[in-house]
Amino acid sequence: MTALFLVLAGAALLLFSHRYAWWRPAVDYHRPRILMYHMVSDHRPGARFNKLRVKPTMFEQQVCWLKEHGWHFATMGELMQNRTLPKKTVAITFDDGYEDNYLQAFPVLKKYAAKATLYLVVDRFDRDWSTNKKSHHDSGELMQEPKLTDVQVKEMLASGLVELGGHTITHANLIRLDREDKVREIVAARTELQESFAQDISSFAYPFGIYDAEDVSICADAGFLSAVTTVEGIDRDRFSNPYLLKRVKISGKDSMFAFGLRMKTGLRGWKR
Ligand SMILES: [Zn+2]
Repeated sequence: MTALFLVLAGAALLLFSHRYAWWRPAVDYHRPRILMYHMVSDHRPGARFNKLRVKPTMFEQQVCWLKEHGWHFATMGELMQNRTLPKKTVAITFDDGYEDNYLQAFPVLKKYAAKATLYLVVDRFDRDWSTNKKSHHDSGELMQEPKLTDVQVKEMLASGLVELGGHTITHANLIRLDREDKVREIVAARTELQESFAQDISSFAYPFGIYDAEDVSICADAGFLSAVTTVEGIDRDRFSNPYLLKRVKISGKDSMFAFGLRMKTGLRGWKR
């Protein structure tokens, strides 16, 4: 009986260890963490993209945890304009421009004086961009998700806590476009955001995290100081490849334990 218990306990420990890789050492806390969020909302039963939905209660717990553990909040512009940053600097980023960023996340940012960068799609209304990645992702789930209005974005910017970044005009799958269309999606998006919101746009996020060498060079030529990918992790030196920055993916399925691990190592589990 005792032997069986030990075997079962051992198996459970192995499974847990494999899932979380909790023994992995912390990445140097002088290296800033760039966190990737999409929606802050409750999950929809059976929905495909619930991983992109961090529950509002969970988001508040995460921001509160960061504050209590001595993290300093910075925007992407601040991250790239300052060679030296305090130990434990974190840049929260939101992709796409979902309305819950204003309704759910913004009150939390204000409560904890936490800064964030919003990668806003210019033409974000009634657009089913999921199919630009995979044609069978045609449920319209993300299209039906309410998006931020310009008025809401302006209020977020006026708080001084939120900075805007580019995420193309249409949430394009860049590698499928010819050079002229790539330039329109990347450069014109920057100009349009700058004109609409009277703010300098210094960072960019590749839609779907999909890009090629040409996209990287267009971003650099367009005047962006940085571009973020969806590659998971924490960069050793953010200035060595500023247009290929890694991010720490925050999943809607994470527990606080998983969140803490991601802040420590950039990853949640064993793989990668
Ligand atoms: Zn996106």
